[in-house]
Amino acid sequence: MEQYRGKVIVKGNAIGKIYIYTRNHYQVTPQKTEFPEEEVNRYRKAQEIVIGQLESAYEKAVEIVGARNASVFDIQAMLLREGKLGQWVEKMILNQKVTSEYAISQVSREISENIFEEKEDWEEEERGQIREVAGRVLNFLTGQNNRMIPGEEKVILAAKDIAPGELLQFDKNRILGLITEIGAGESHTAVLASAMEIPYLCGIPFHSEWNGKMAAINGNKGLFCVEPEEKCLEEIKEGLWEQEKEKERLETLIGEKAVTLDGERMYVYANVGREEELEEAITYRVAGIGLVRSEYLFMGKENYPSEEEQYEYYRNIVEKMQGKPVHIRTLDIGADKQMNYLRLEKEDNPAMGFRGIRICLEQEELFRTQLKALFRAAVYGNLGILYPMITSVEEIDQIQEIIHDIREEMDAKGVVYGEVRQGVMIETPAAVMISDMLAEKVDFFSIGTNDLIQYVMAADRQNYKVASLCQSSHPAVIRMMELAVRNAHRYGIPVMVCGEMASDKELTRKLVEMGVDILSVAPGQILAIRKEIRNTTVRE
Ligand code: PEP
Ligand code: MG
Repeated sequence: MEQYRGKVIVKGNAIGKIYIYTRNHYQVTPQKTEFPEEEVNRYRKAQEIVIGQLESAYEKAVEIVGARNASVFDIQAMLLREGKLGQWVEKMILNQKVTSEYAISQVSREISENIFEEKEDWEEEERGQIREVAGRVLNFLTGQNNRMIPGEEKVILAAKDIAPGELLQFDKNRILGLITEIGAGESHTAVLASAMEIPYLCGIPFHSEWNGKMAAINGNKGLFCVEPEEKCLEEIKEGLWEQEKEKERLETLIGEKAVTLDGERMYVYANVGREEELEEAITYRVAGIGLVRSEYLFMGKENYPSEEEQYEYYRNIVEKMQGKPVHIRTLDIGADKQMNYLRLEKEDNPAMGFRGIRICLEQEELFRTQLKALFRAAVYGNLGILYPMITSVEEIDQIQEIIHDIREEMDAKGVVYGEVRQGVMIETPAAVMISDMLAEKVDFFSIGTNDLIQYVMAADRQNYKVASLCQSSHPAVIRMMELAVRNAHRYGIPVMVCGEMASDKELTRKLVEMGVDILSVAPGQILAIRKEIRNTTVRE
């Protein structure tokens, strides 16, 4: 048995086989063929189909984000149609008598590593495009991607690191646990794993040769065992049994209110993304949905979701909550949350770069499409729209102008839409310091502690080397939050906390005392936080 100690990101235990995930799609083993001409035909057919897919992706994207932003699909289709990639792949198949899969993976690898013998002077951007195009053809040829776990067994997913967009593409029902070498507690991967209720340890060295081996995660001790001994398994089985018992105990709180022992009324809402999370929150009779990270609808996809797709998604949540408040955040992309088709430039300092509302205000078409879908969905219930990464009053004014405009457009077209409440994420020190000015303009605040902590502490939430600085209970963080709550209440608007801090039981009392009105947590945490509030006394 090999044993490693890691950092517990999401508590829980798991026993199962390891499935290794690597980001590199192109490790195709060399395979010879006796029929190279047939391979060329296979390649040509795949190329033709992928060109067709890209052309229709382009047409759809033009409608949603305009021609300039949709151009990535057009460029990629052109690269396949007119570029030399196809010629080189065919040449390799015929000369070396290898399969199409191997030929395209090799050509693409050589181009991206700049070791291609028929060298051309490509910019990094072009190399990226070729890599992507080749990936599309390869996925088509193999009929799968490496986010599809083979077989039917549930597995422990192991990776060097994994981006949230990648994790989203896995079938949650096949994952028992997650281990990564690189990771941090406030990263979006951590947030997502918590929402998906996947036990997660980081800091475990990556070994690709573990693929298929039995392993166990001991979430109480932060241990990861490869080929675990009986004693280790016993301990984990006991942990799993305890987990089940605690779940049953918490279920007695379904339908109970979140009121402190001395009568302070709080509300526990849920952060949801996927349908199962919504269903789970509804089962626990949640009082509202505090945060829908709408970017999850855009990530891990090949193209933008259309207005209609978005409308259906938002409407479903609003409708299912039957008049209870729902808060949907507009696209908060950037930093570790990427959509390939948006083609954001690589930045040296992405956490402080082009992200959230900054992108939406520049790519207005994208924002308008989303707002229209949200306003239309608002007809079916009680909807609040939440804007991320706000740093100035001017941003709010700009948003209001856009909203005024789209309302006029929808009126002119006779589109039916509802009323919405509008709120801002308080997740930058700037937003805290002008929270009085913001409170005058909006209907509610939502404190995004995951980001607020990183910006207050000047410690990247993605960087495990500074993870110890990202402390929720740091006086600087607490004071910032207190100021935002005071200003919100001065203007009579409610405050919710929707970052991971809301589910830290050790801080529940602090948050209640601070005057926070709503705690919004992953569905799996609703009952535990409800219980914590019910056991809390505020004024002694
Ligand atoms: C936050 O920053 O606390 C938050 C809720 O948003 P996200 O984690 O998606 O950045
Ligand atoms: Mg945030």
